[in-house]
Amino acid sequence: MEKSKKIAILQDVIKIKSVNGNEKKVAEYLSNLLKEHNIHSTIVDYSDDRANLIAKISQGDSKKTLGLSGHMDVVDPGDESQWTYPPFEATIVNDKLYGRGATDMKSGLVAMVIAMIELKEKQTAFNGNVKLLATVGEEVGELGSEQLTTLGHADDLTGLIIGEPTNYNLMYTHMGSINYSVTSHGKEAHSSMPELGYNAINHLNNFISEVNKKMEKISEEYENDTLGRTIHNVTVISGGNQVNSIPNFAKIQGNIRSIPEFDNEQIINVLQEIVDTLNKGTEYKLDLSIDYNKIPVKADSHSELITAIQSQFDQPLPLISAAGTTDAAEFTKSKTKFDFVVFGPGVSSTAHQVDEYVEIDNYLDMIDKYQAIVKAYLN
Ligand SMILES: [Zn+2]
Repeated sequence: MEKSKKIAILQDVIKIKSVNGNEKKVAEYLSNLLKEHNIHSTIVDYSDDRANLIAKISQGDSKKTLGLSGHMDVVDPGDESQWTYPPFEATIVNDKLYGRGATDMKSGLVAMVIAMIELKEKQTAFNGNVKLLATVGEEVGELGSEQLTTLGHADDLTGLIIGEPTNYNLMYTHMGSINYSVTSHGKEAHSSMPELGYNAINHLNNFISEVNKKMEKISEEYENDTLGRTIHNVTVISGGNQVNSIPNFAKIQGNIRSIPEFDNEQIINVLQEIVDTLNKGTEYKLDLSIDYNKIPVKADSHSELITAIQSQFDQPLPLISAAGTTDAAEFTKSKTKFDFVVFGPGVSSTAHQVDEYVEIDNYLDMIDKYQAIVKAYLN
């Protein structure tokens, strides 16, 4: 494929406003593009205007399957007047392509799709399967990868590359993330007669003290070589409605970044235990809800997949970790274990920012690199 065509395709995809929704338009665009090159794909609907996309190319008799995955949603551009170039016009200036999603992660996604097209066009020999998994709603809870994994679409993978921006680094591990809320129900009374009521803020305050103490202890006790220690913070608080009334309601929210050494399930048990203990002996209740639950992931840093990638470079690429989560947190819940790595064009520090961009050379190079990796991994 001509370079100019590769750039034009990326521009087309960035121009589709898939801000926390509308991914179906991206899926349809990519599906049509694949069809033009005789690659069959399947649209997997999520909701009205949201859909994932699956496509596969195969050669030989090997069951090895390398997944290539990218998300189709982008985050809100914020105040568009702050952008030097409009976020959905995919403007090119000095070999940089600007736009929301340029780095996170439409360049990675499109590079993967074009790599599959070129593998087919050039009739590159490989033995096995290359499977595209394009997802919805990664930025708001990894909705698409959760759906695809539940449907079994990750069960045939032996390897997976997620094309999030890592700028020639290989990210093989990242922390998990838990959002939780605790709601406290009390009984309203005049503040001059508190014995007639039950103070929901006081009850919740006991939870905050306990959870901070317990989580601090966990953070001291457990450590991961690369990810570091568990991070916990109470981040949102509300409650009460009048200064001279005993409050009958209060709520907090907290966020936890987890490591495999003390995993999400163990953390949730700790939270529940604190709530249960504090609820003992009173009819007024604290209620825990887990609003978001993504597990930490860690791949083998010397896997066959990572070795295949390293063999494409004169100098080995640095192996890195991250605090943020990716679709890997869902895909790795598949029935069978597989190797994975996060490796894609762009620099994560420009993601979610005004004037997000990708270097065009980086994007074009990754199209070639993905093909070389397929050849090396499926040999
Ligand atoms: Zn992303």
